[in-house]
Amino acid sequence: MNTTIPNSSQSTARERIGAVKGQIVDAAKRASRNPQDVNLIAVSKTFDPEQIEPVIGAGQTVFGENRVQEAQGKWPDLKTHHGDLELHLIGPLQSNKARDAVRLFDVIHTVDRPKIAKAIAKEMALQDRRPRLFVQVNTGEEEQKGGIAPAELEGFLRSCSKEHGLKIEGLMCIPPVDEEAALHFALLQKLAQRNGLKELSMGMSADFETAIAFGATYVRVGTAIFGPRTAKF
Ligand SMILES: *Cc1c(COP(=O)(O)O)cnc(C)c1O
Repeated sequence: MNTTIPNSSQSTARERIGAVKGQIVDAAKRASRNPQDVNLIAVSKTFDPEQIEPVIGAGQTVFGENRVQEAQGKWPDLKTHHGDLELHLIGPLQSNKARDAVRLFDVIHTVDRPKIAKAIAKEMALQDRRPRLFVQVNTGEEEQKGGIAPAELEGFLRSCSKEHGLKIEGLMCIPPVDEEAALHFALLQKLAQRNGLKELSMGMSADFETAIAFGATYVRVGTAIFGPRTAKF
């Protein structure tokens, strides 16, 4: 928090959003896809409401946050002041935060283990709120990263549906930093097709155009919109 980016004026936010949207349209056209099928999530983690406001002012309505607690500190107010905002949780979820996550978020991208599926299902029933749900897949099978291993995805999806009554709409991945992202995007696309899932959450500032070539329907872009994060994450 308390990061400052130079020139975070409204016109700059507008220019940055405009540039990213232009790149999305171009990448979609190159892939013979309808640009409207690619949704832009502006990832606002570490940035304060003062830095988020100009991006909302530039017309952006869909935002992503990594941490439930950080999001709780800024989004209830922003949501009160601006109708029609859509908030996505793109970071790991602990089961003791499931209540707050179901209350605040419209889409959760990180359903990544049976315990979380169970906790989300319980809260959805209690609160009568139904955030849309994606399963995170650990395509690189990295130990430190959340997500279901590709080989276990089918069984996990079945248990989400059969045991917890959860409707999963799509898959999300974060490729390993030192590997070709395209290989992971291709794998996620194949897994989604095989399991009849429509949405693909993949691609960040450095590689969202590649992700669009492999069918991304949600790209998660932080730095290219807000500037570099100075806070460690
Ligand atoms: C931070 C983050 C992003 C955005 O990354 P940038 O490189 O700043 O665009 C996207 N997805 C996830 C899961 C993140 O944690």
